[in-house]
Amino acid sequence: MVYDEQNVFSKILRGEIPVNSVYEDEYALAFEDINPQAPVHLLVIPKGSYVSLDDFTMKASEKEVAGFFMAVGQVAREAGLSESGYRILANHGNDANQEVPHFHVHIVGGRNVGKMISLKDN
Ligand code: AMP
Repeated sequence: MVYDEQNVFSKILRGEIPVNSVYEDEYALAFEDINPQAPVHLLVIPKGSYVSLDDFTMKASEKEVAGFFMAVGQVAREAGLSESGYRILANHGNDANQEVPHFHVHIVGGRNVGKMISLKDN
């Protein structure tokens, strides 16, 4: 799996593209999705260069994995979603229609987001 340094989230990490950032620590950056699917739609990305969850869990250190997922929980709490609830999701590869080849977790909430993600054909 070859990481593309020109992908949009890599540019965001380098500060080349502005985002509405909501959280940052040594392992993760979180910001608002540019095309929100719910009243709250945040993206959490690791600081390291990983294509997807598959790549991340193969190559990242335990510290990076733990730090990243701690950040996901923290971001959801800070967004005020702990009481009302939220969904996280991560797309890997073609069948999941992953658009940006830098691992990211979506956090969606702020309304009832239904029972399950759409599994319809495109
Ligand atoms: P995925 O299909 O899981 O790869 O999702 C990629 C997500 O990145 C989509 O929800 C896009 O709306 C979002 N996105 C793409 N470019 C930007 C950007 N410049 N700032 C914030 N979100 C973005």
